[in-house]
Parts: sequence; C-alpha cells; structure tokens
Amino acid sequence: MKYLFGPVNSRRLGLSQGIDLLPAKICDFNCIYCEIGSTTNLTCERQEYTPSSEIIAEINLLLADQHPPIDIFTITASGEPTLHTGLGRIIAHLKQKTAKPVAVLTNGSLLYRQEVRRELQEADIVIPSLDAALEKSFRKINRPAECVSLADIISGMKLFCKEFNGQVWLEILLLKGINDSPEEIAALRKAVADIQPNKIQLNTVARPPLESYAAPLKENELKEISRQLPGSVEIIVDFAKRKRKNCGNATEADILAMLRRRPCTESDIREALNLARVQPLLDRMITENVLTRTMHSGKTFYEPKL
Ligand code: SF4
Repeated sequence: MKYLFGPVNSRRLGLSQGIDLLPAKICDFNCIYCEIGSTTNLTCERQEYTPSSEIIAEINLLLADQHPPIDIFTITASGEPTLHTGLGRIIAHLKQKTAKPVAVLTNGSLLYRQEVRRELQEADIVIPSLDAALEKSFRKINRPAECVSLADIISGMKLFCKEFNGQVWLEILLLKGINDSPEEIAALRKAVADIQPNKIQLNTVARPPLESYAAPLKENELKEISRQLPGSVEIIVDFAKRKRKNCGNATEADILAMLRRRPCTESDIREALNLARVQPLLDRMITENVLTRTMHSGKTFYEPKL
C-alpha cells in the first residue's frame, strides 16, 4: 500500500488506520518541532498532489480484504492534508463505504477557506493545531509560508467550530521558553475562548524535533498551564493506556512504514503495532543497515537509514 499505513495504536484515537495524502513534505508551515523533517515544498497552493483515485482504490482494497478491526480512519499527510484537493472526495468515499469514524489531522491554516471547511464537513473529528496566538512566537515556531496569516487561522478556526457538526479537538504544542510564558498563555486563552473547540489537547516535544532548540515542557508545567486554559483540556504527551486490541504480527515493512513518518522508540513501535516484543527485529534491522538509532531526551529513537 502506498497511501494507507497501520493500523497504529494512536494515543488519541485508538486503533487507527492512517491515510497519507501527500507524496513528500508539502506544507505551508515548517515547524521547528516537526517530526517529518524540513518542508521541501512550502506552499499554500491546493492541488491534487497524489491521484485521489489511487487513494480510493487502496481504501477499497482494504475494505474488500479481511482486515483487522479498526476504531477509526485517520487522514493525515507527510505535510498538510488540507492542501490536497481530493480531501472532500476521499472523506465522502470513506463515509459512504464504512461506518467507521473519520478523523483529520491538520495544522488548521486553511480553515479560513470556505471550500476547505466544506470538504471537512463529513468528517467526524478534526484536530487542528494552534501553537501560538502572538505573531512573533507563531512565526518562530511554525515558520509559515508568506501566504499564511495568523489572524486568518484564528478566524477560520472560529468559523469552522461554528459550522462543523463533529468534534474539534484543538492541539496546542508547548515549547520551553518559546510559547509557555504568561503572555503567550494569556493570548492562547483568549484565542481558544474565541474559537470554542470541543476540547484542547496539550502537547509538547516527545520525539526528535527538526530543530534541537525545540525543547519540551515538564509534566508539572503542562499541568499548571492546562489549569489556565478554558473548557475541557487534556494532556496527550504519552500514549493513552488503552485496552490493547490484537492486530497480529508486524513485519519489517510495517516498521519501516511507521518510521518513515516519524522517529519512534522501541515502546512506541510495540504500542502502535501491538507487539509483545520488537527489540530483536529492530536490532536485526540495525545490523542490516536499514535503521539508525538516535538519542533524544535520554531515549533511543529509531529512524530509517537514508
Ligand atoms: S508539524 Fe505539521 S504543520 Fe508543522 S511542518 Fe510538520 S507537517 Fe507541517
């Protein structure tokens, strides 16, 4: 499969069948904490970057096959999925073919565009990000393309929350010394009160970031900030301790497909692919020169060897 990956045990969504809409790192942001790597095509231009018919054919193949039970389909991308003009068609197809809920992970930057809000209407959960409500920190963290405006992002999210019938979970990723000051949190509090998402999900850096200065907050710091934000706020830094569901054995190809999207620890891989043991396989992949190890915050992460 070229576009479908997983299922992975997602900390937020349960057993999630991923659908990656983009062929490369195409995004209108180049976030300092990005786990995928540097943006190669920094653009606001919507296009059919990969043929929607091929993605739909893979979905049909999966649904026709004896596949493991999954909780949800999650549309994501090696970049920003709302840049793909087939988004609405793909969501509509999923809703027509399956009763499973559909989630979309997005940086939220294009929600000010009516066609993007319309294309997302049939989804069940949309998870946009807002890391800063002040211009300086927004530019420092998300390093957006020139065509992106913070004011448009906030007003687009507000409009979307009003129009959308499903759930909007607003993710805020906090970085030490960049968007965790009282002024930053006050600005975020005001923006969130305006946007009115169903809930806020607080996050921090947990994997090797694009820039080494993108440093995480401690758990108690996140807890303290969670008390200052309005509405329902949860901290999502670790995998939720969900009841595991058996989805069988994983192969080297499954592990590589997962690691191509982001570096993971041995326990991330075990949790996501629902494996009792994976270390011997990882060791073999290191010996075979397929993977490399890197250290971050005292943990060992695995990445595909380039
Ligand atoms: S974290 Fe998301 S929004 Fe930011 S650069 Fe990476 S893919 Fe784009």
